[in-house]
Amino acid sequence: MRTLALFEEAPYQCNFNARVLAVSEQGVALDQTLFYPTGGGQPGDQGHFLLPDGSVVAVVGTQRDPLHRSIIWHQLKEGAPVLSPDMELQGCLDWERRYLHMRMHTCLHLLCSIISAPVTGCSIGTNKGRLDFDLPDSTLDKEYITRSLNELINRGLEVSVRLLSSCEYDSLLEFAHIRTVTPALMQGVVRIVKIPGLDLQPCGGTHVRNIAEIGQVVCEKIEKKSRHNRRVTLRLT
Ligand SMILES: [Zn+2]
Repeated sequence: MRTLALFEEAPYQCNFNARVLAVSEQGVALDQTLFYPTGGGQPGDQGHFLLPDGSVVAVVGTQRDPLHRSIIWHQLKEGAPVLSPDMELQGCLDWERRYLHMRMHTCLHLLCSIISAPVTGCSIGTNKGRLDFDLPDSTLDKEYITRSLNELINRGLEVSVRLLSSCEYDSLLEFAHIRTVTPALMQGVVRIVKIPGLDLQPCGGTHVRNIAEIGQVVCEKIEKKSRHNRRVTLRLT
């Protein structure tokens, strides 16, 4: 079974030491990283590298390699010095931005728990986030969603994450109700995120430890994007 990536193992850490493995037109790959790569509607992390000579290089984005999904490329700001393989460096996340993503991402799990319809789209920003639901007859109400989310947040539940092999995932009846979701497999492993009594689903994103950290939220708008599609936008307050 695969080991956890550093950003999964230590979602609250923002500095790390690493060694350059490869440099390509896609960016810089390291032997380990805390930078979350774009995925699941959550933007890739930004931050900087501190090089051995003391210079600072901005990291403007992070993406998985489209073919070799375990490789994570860090995109450097235009005009940055060219790094070489085996160089040791320190990576530093833009923590403020990442933590906002963690709060909003976790909040979208709560939104799934109060709207029972398939999710067809997701987008996460620093203080806003949205989910699209396949919901032809909408009775969604902004005030109801705002009140329900804040009541859930006030319950202060712990968020847990565990890894399952795809066979374990298939065999566990516990997950029968989420079989319609195609799990994101990484090296044959499904990552399951659980908020007890509220939500249980495969997810590769970053989450807060306790839903109280989300803080208060407001449902900003509900849009009809097509006959079946309802878009619900939330904002952290
Ligand atoms: Zn998630």
